[in-house]
Amino acid sequence: RTSDAITGFESTFADELTPLTVEWRGADVPDPRLLVANDQLAASLGLDVDSLRTEDGIAILSGAAVPADGKPVATAYSGHQFGGYAPLLGDGRALLLGELVDVEGRRVDLQLKGSGPTPFSRGGDGFAVVGPMLREYLVSEAMHALGVPTTRSLAVVATGRGIHRNGVEPGAVLARVAASHLRVGTFEFAARNGSVLQPLADYAVARHYPDLAEVPTTGGGNRYAKLLERVVERQAALVAQWMLVGFVHGVMNTDNTTISGETIDYGPCAFIDAFDPAAVFSSIDHGGRYAFGNQPAVLKWNLARFAETLLTLISPTPDDAIAVATATLSTFDAHYERHLYDGLSAKLGLADTFVEHEVIDDLLTLLAAHRADWTGAFRALAEELRGRSTPLDILLPREASTPWLARWREALARHGRDEAATADAMDRVNPLYIPRNHLVDEALQAANDGDLALFAELLDVVTNPFERRVEWVKYTSPAPEEFNSSFQTFCG
Ligand code: AMP
Ligand code: MG
Ligand code: MG
Repeated sequence: RTSDAITGFESTFADELTPLTVEWRGADVPDPRLLVANDQLAASLGLDVDSLRTEDGIAILSGAAVPADGKPVATAYSGHQFGGYAPLLGDGRALLLGELVDVEGRRVDLQLKGSGPTPFSRGGDGFAVVGPMLREYLVSEAMHALGVPTTRSLAVVATGRGIHRNGVEPGAVLARVAASHLRVGTFEFAARNGSVLQPLADYAVARHYPDLAEVPTTGGGNRYAKLLERVVERQAALVAQWMLVGFVHGVMNTDNTTISGETIDYGPCAFIDAFDPAAVFSSIDHGGRYAFGNQPAVLKWNLARFAETLLTLISPTPDDAIAVATATLSTFDAHYERHLYDGLSAKLGLADTFVEHEVIDDLLTLLAAHRADWTGAFRALAEELRGRSTPLDILLPREASTPWLARWREALARHGRDEAATADAMDRVNPLYIPRNHLVDEALQAANDGDLALFAELLDVVTNPFERRVEWVKYTSPAPEEFNSSFQTFCG
């Protein structure tokens, strides 16, 4: 079945990198029901918002109908999963419908997740269920609202198919939008499977770093050496932003690390309440490889896997290629620290960045020692400047906070802004609302039982993270400590 309810699809990836794709289509959808749709995102893609909600629009969003001008494919990739190499992963439950060009002229992918088995499904059933797909929708849209580069969510359609997970759960398909679905794993696949590597690298350059297209493909500092530099920079900036908002991705395998620098594949992810570098929520992360505080180191490891795929393109002389790649990877730490301390400086109202490391580091130590709520702490500090001490006293004992507060005020004075202006500047960068685990859990439980009201309200809250409303006060509270000490996330 084909439909023209959504049109404008192009297939540059499938056309130019055919060996990385398999033409495919989605499974039947017995009883489609649109659970949520993103009108703003649809409008930014130039899509007719009303036609998304028609029977045909929903059929395309669920994979039951093929867009008339589209050529859906499943894509191939490899990946290092928890450190071990898996040579063939690929879209085991996803379908790239094609690319759309948004109203600003940017090319994006529209991908379905949970649309049925593909040649890459291995032992999996190819499907997804309502809870985890709504979770990805909510968390990715929250990340976008927080200013973190991320894939976006266009819609979730319940399929009416029962899926075997913990018992039978309701099936669903997520339609998501990404700058592209090129992953480090795509390069790992191409590097070990022949002639498609250079075309892939050129495609990535054209799509994500177009100013590099003019750089020669040979010689020192060539196009591929520059590509590595750029991806290192973007990913260093990205992981710094995760740390600043307290986001734990949960499954940072190389197949979940993009070339575009967007966050992708929200599985067992979570936000921290208490500041704790060792925080792990994923039920499958037994060793804590992807713990909150490990994320920068793991990302650097993933980028080393990316660098390996580019060695033959960086130089025909292996020693030269390795020297260039090593030097580029070694810039990661400085990029990361600059982004992290710039961000922390802004969160603390310090007008100049990168000059008050000790004050910043000592706050982190204090917050960790007292398991203080990460998101709440920065709002409480702004309140402290306004002469309201109660919010901070709830998080840190006064005898512990007093000496640090004096040093912070001295640092603020050195940077020459008055405290009222500082507090206002802080509130502009420190969110009030994040998708707290207990609230997400509660909303998804209700959605699973057929009541979407809590989900809709939570979505409204977390996509307006800086907007204080009296009726939203419950969304600022951390979970009871018992909740988070036993809270686990699953892959779904
Ligand atoms: P993830 O950890 O979600 O990024 O997925 C890792 C790999 O497992 C990817 O190749 C997915 O396509 C595949 N996968 C995950 N869940 C399923 C499923 N239910 N059926 C088939 N493949 C799956
Ligand atoms: Mg993945
Ligand atoms: Mg996945």
